[in-house]
Amino acid sequence: MTGITKELVDECENDNCQSEIVEGQEVWRKGFGLYCSGRCLAESMGAVTITIN
Ligand SMILES: [Zn+2]
Repeated sequence: MTGITKELVDECENDNCQSEIVEGQEVWRKGFGLYCSGRCLAESMGAVTITIN
């Protein structure tokens, strides 16, 4: 433990992620769901990251 404990609010709605979302963190919200990043939000909507060759 680092000694600084931020209150755990929720976890990322993306099943592949489920990162802890803590007080003060900037997150993405869709409906009642919270996502730790725009990437997680996009993934939850079925979007995937690809590389264009
Ligand atoms: Zn996430």
